[in-house]
Amino acid sequence: MDKVAEAWMIEEKLQNLLQTIPAGVKVVAVSKTQPVQVIRTAYDAGLRIFGENKVRELVAKHPLLPQDIEWHYIGHLQRNKVKQVVSVAAMIHSIDSFRLLKEVDKEAGKINRTVRCLLQFHIATEETKFGLDWEEAVNMLTSREYREMEFINLCGVMGMATFTDDQALVRKEFRHLRTLYQRLKSDFFPDDPGFSELSMGMSGDYRIAIEEGSTMVRVGTMLFGERE
Ligand SMILES: *Cc1c(COP(=O)(O)O)cnc(C)c1O
Repeated sequence: MDKVAEAWMIEEKLQNLLQTIPAGVKVVAVSKTQPVQVIRTAYDAGLRIFGENKVRELVAKHPLLPQDIEWHYIGHLQRNKVKQVVSVAAMIHSIDSFRLLKEVDKEAGKINRTVRCLLQFHIATEETKFGLDWEEAVNMLTSREYREMEFINLCGVMGMATFTDDQALVRKEFRHLRTLYQRLKSDFFPDDPGFSELSMGMSGDYRIAIEEGSTMVRVGTMLFGERE
């Protein structure tokens, strides 16, 4: 496809998408596997938040694109790669262990940067997906180590529903995530307006996610087409 046609398509898909998304819901354009020119086109169409799930890819793209892009790291993150991510990402959606959170705090501290983070919960029936359960989150949030962290800013939760056509199941999982979010908010962040994000919904299920209270949808295929 030539560049003009491609730009037009992204613009059109974006406009269509935005029409179905309430004003308060943020769009994270999941640009994994997309080349820099395609991201640039999406930027020109008005998108400012991009999501990547591979550290190498994020680090390679970051310097080649406008500096006012907000990069979100959405993939499973290994502790030995945290250092690279904290220097470029505005938000990490995928905090799935206490050890990871500690590492983010440590590495962010070294460069005196505060990183916004979301706690990823395991809500799907698939065993392969990552994420915390309630007890792990509570243990973390009640610990002295957590209270002493200075360089992370917990902003909410993230979760991925089961990959299935069963919409009722997807809805139930999103609803569960919202309940976890609300419990965390009232138990641990009652006076923190910054704890406000519920990152749920991808191309296949973002409508249900929004109906269930999502504040942040992570959509790739919807905007850029099927990945290779
Ligand atoms: C790839 C990915 C998405 C986007 O998926 P699409 O189906 O292309 O919208 C969202 N969230 C995470 C964590 C992903 O890895």
